[in-house]
Amino acid sequence: NGPMVAESDAQAGALGYKADASKVDKTKFPKYAAGQNCAGCALYQGKASDAAGGCPLFAGKQVAGKGWCSAWAKKA
Ligand code: SF4
Repeated sequence: NGPMVAESDAQAGALGYKADASKVDKTKFPKYAAGQNCAGCALYQGKASDAAGGCPLFAGKQVAGKGWCSAWAKKA
């Protein structure tokens, strides 16, 4: 638990984090594909159904299940 990551946070900017994956800048992050989001990321610490959960890249904060960042990795 913890406060939500803000897109204005330095780490969020560095990783291209968006709380709404559909708002990802696809020009800057061509690896983004529709359907990818934090809830489906291997690093997400919440359940896939949780609206928000922890992420080791944002210690002490929560990311949105519908969010995305450039470190996204498919959940095995
Ligand atoms: Fe979301 Fe995964 Fe990026 Fe963490 S690493 S912010 S869970 S996409």
